[in-house]
Amino acid sequence: VPKEFQAMKDAHELLRKFYHHLLVNTKEGQHALEYLYGRGFSQESIDKFQIGYSLASWDFVVKFLSKRNFIPEWMEKAGLIIQRERDGTYFDRFRDRIMFPIFDRNGSTIAFSGRSLGGEDPKYLNSPETAIFNKSKILYNYHQAKSSIKKLQYAVLFEGFADVIAADRAGIENGIATMGTSLTDEHIALLRQSVQSIVICYDSDNAGVQAAYRSGNLLQDAGFELKVAMMPDGMDPDEYIKKYGPEKFRHEVIDASLTWMGFKFLYFRRGKNLQNEGDRLNYIEEIIKEISKLPMAVERDHYLRQLAAEFSLSLDALKQQQKEFYFAEK
Ligand code: ATP
Ligand code: MN
Ligand code: MN
Ligand code: MN
Repeated sequence: VPKEFQAMKDAHELLRKFYHHLLVNTKEGQHALEYLYGRGFSQESIDKFQIGYSLASWDFVVKFLSKRNFIPEWMEKAGLIIQRERDGTYFDRFRDRIMFPIFDRNGSTIAFSGRSLGGEDPKYLNSPETAIFNKSKILYNYHQAKSSIKKLQYAVLFEGFADVIAADRAGIENGIATMGTSLTDEHIALLRQSVQSIVICYDSDNAGVQAAYRSGNLLQDAGFELKVAMMPDGMDPDEYIKKYGPEKFRHEVIDASLTWMGFKFLYFRRGKNLQNEGDRLNYIEEIIKEISKLPMAVERDHYLRQLAAEFSLSLDALKQQQKEFYFAEK
């Protein structure tokens, strides 16, 4: 490992510990700690996820690192400090934020994501891409979740850090999340090394449902066995757990996940009025197309019957239509 990369990791390691100390033990961090408690984070989660707080200072990190003989140019490349064009001096990237350390799969701290406490933008500020941090390869919490993923033989894919942490508190320890980006082929390759089944548990708002459809298609194409967990009223998992508690989350969200096809039945219904003839025909066509993509004849038959029953259609007509799509696909 080049010396430069080791120094970048060492600086992250030291700062992770210090940010955590500031949050948990100091007067400066108290409002941040209260914010987290107010959101339902437990002390146990704060420790397990090594959550911290960055001071409202322009040069705390600059001084902290230079005192320990870290080379400023390297620390800039690590994304921890930023150089001013004006005079070449440096300032801290993360100020007055809740700090979520990002670990690689071996448990080294390689980046941070800082959440603003008030409404300041951006809500989450991530480390930039660096020599040690490539966000299209990193899954949040993978290093801790991997043993549970192996044991349970499935992973739960969330949208946000807060969701992973809330789910963990609710006893779901096989949760992971992307870094606020869409799922990439590299993430999928990483997952394939340890698991074959995924439960997608994205926010149930419009953006989350769209993203679930996109990620689901990628995972499906990659050969994963898929389910999709949904919450009512556009909630996200963290909000749901805070409102309804862990028990209900486990039983009524995770255990009640839809099959991938079941999710698509709902997905294509959105924004349509099935009382309206045009909408209804569109919907039926979209669903038959999806059914045509299924590899097994018994599955195709099962869903065609479901569709026929729901809309009082002749099974023969649906089968005929499905065959046309099926051969168009080939
Ligand atoms: P919170 O519960 O703290 O408000 P969230 O996870 O519910 O956060 P969402 O708005 O649902 O936030 O966004 C999902 C994820 O997208 C976040 O966890 C974060 O990783 C990422 N994200 C959100 N807003 C931003 C932003 N402004 N810049 C970068 N990433 C962001
Ligand atoms: Mn969201
Ligand atoms: Mn959310
Ligand atoms: Mn949230």
